[in-house]
Amino acid sequence: MLQRSGASHDPYGSIGDLDDLLSFVESEFVESGVWLDNINPRNGARINRVAEAGDTHLDRAVRSANLAAAAWGRVSVSQRSDFLLAIAAGIESRFDEFVKAESLDTGKPISQAKSLDIPRAISNLRFFAALIQGETSDSFVTTANNTPSALNYTIRKPHGVVGVICPWNLPLLLLTWKIAPALATGNAVIIKPSEHTPTSATLLAQVVADIGAPAGLVSVLHGTGPMSVGQKIAAHKGIDAVTFTGSSATGAKIMEAASRSVKPLSFELGGKNSAIVFSDADLDDAVHGVIRSVFSNSGQICLCTERVYVAQDIFDSFLSRLTKAVQGLSFEESGKEGITLGPLISSNQRDKVLSFFDLAIEEGADLLVGGKAKLFGDDRDTGFYVQPSVFTGLPRDSRFVREEIFGPVCHIEKFALEKEVIAASNDSSFGLAASIWTNDLRVAHRVAPQLSVGMVWINDWFRRDLRAPFGGTKLSGIGREGGHHSLDFYAPPSNICLSISGDL
Ligand code: NAD
Repeated sequence: MLQRSGASHDPYGSIGDLDDLLSFVESEFVESGVWLDNINPRNGARINRVAEAGDTHLDRAVRSANLAAAAWGRVSVSQRSDFLLAIAAGIESRFDEFVKAESLDTGKPISQAKSLDIPRAISNLRFFAALIQGETSDSFVTTANNTPSALNYTIRKPHGVVGVICPWNLPLLLLTWKIAPALATGNAVIIKPSEHTPTSATLLAQVVADIGAPAGLVSVLHGTGPMSVGQKIAAHKGIDAVTFTGSSATGAKIMEAASRSVKPLSFELGGKNSAIVFSDADLDDAVHGVIRSVFSNSGQICLCTERVYVAQDIFDSFLSRLTKAVQGLSFEESGKEGITLGPLISSNQRDKVLSFFDLAIEEGADLLVGGKAKLFGDDRDTGFYVQPSVFTGLPRDSRFVREEIFGPVCHIEKFALEKEVIAASNDSSFGLAASIWTNDLRVAHRVAPQLSVGMVWINDWFRRDLRAPFGGTKLSGIGREGGHHSLDFYAPPSNICLSISGDL
């Protein structure tokens, strides 16, 4: 049994029998002898330890996944759909354990894991279970001289084995967002969760084992990225496609590793998202919406806003309301409504965010609120907390305004003209999402299509319809997932052309 530090901000102590997390290969939990510590972001103590999968585990996972995929691609759509429903039911039946695991690994408030992360993971599985049941195919009648000459129809073909590499910010939610359509369309999956959040993926492997999934259909391999399981999945010749959510820099490395076998890739990457507040916006809604978009999950969501542009005639009043509201944000479970902040995921991420705070000052910013590590005077001071922070006054070419920070922070700038703010919003290497706050529908519909991003919210943020395309432009990603867009990636359509006329 491992030594466990009994710190007061470890809300659960032990999580069942998950002290040693093993990889799941060919329906077996396997150990490697190489252990990684999984650290509690609330206090820096070890939660559990994780066995890093080795090359032999990966090769075994790939071999068994190829065998499983050959059979799984031929089973009926109903069977695949039922399988997803069984996983969803398995997660639901252990809901509290999943919530605890997610909250413990990430440091996010229990209330969020309970209301967002785990319910959405279940919905992802149920959504694709239903979508695949209703799936139809295209057909086209080709004519020559006004007479049908051929019938074209499309069928979907799964890739075979899909590598699924996931980040730590919404662990099970983002993992199921990928495995559900991959399995629904007939692929086997080899999952690599983030080394920072291995526990919910291990619970998922237990659920998969308990429902008696075919050996090799779902593997979970623990480890890190470079020179470890992540990079090896991207490069492995026996893996046919890779779906990845994470940073743009890692995306570039995966692309390089996958290039030798020309693998299809789906990338959901970083963002430097803007919020634009026009002078006619409902100020209370806009302040509340911008706060949600900047500080949810302590700013650790790819869709979070980091650049806020506010019309000059409301700039001062917006700023004073925003600053006051940010000062009132609470940490942990305070029972108050609204955003609840937690720690950042790791000491590295905290140091990175704090170094951006220093950089902002060096680059000439005015600090409006926050700007430091958050201290509590208890054991959380060895955790990874930073203050929610707002800066202003930086030029658009400053690093603080251009680079993704991924913490509870934004820069706020005033604008005079619509065309100026469109240009400012588009002046970014990223292109994931934007939000517009206005009561003028003409402004909203004129501006939204001009923003070079994959998703725009009008008077809203983060509301998702799982049928809608999700993805970014530029450094923010390649491809779209969501509804049929996911099916198109995991099982691209192939065309069959049947001659009707008989003429050659
Ligand atoms: P990360 O890129 O550091 O790691 C993501 C995953 O990739 C981890 O499992 C990691 O072990 C693995 N990895 C790291 N190096 C690798 C390599 N060389 N080869 C293969 N795998 C490797 O990202 P993160 O820090 O876990 O997550 C935060 C980032 O993810 C942010 O940039 C955020 O914007 C982005 N993100 C994007 C979306 C989206 O949908 N667009 C959603 C969530 C997070």
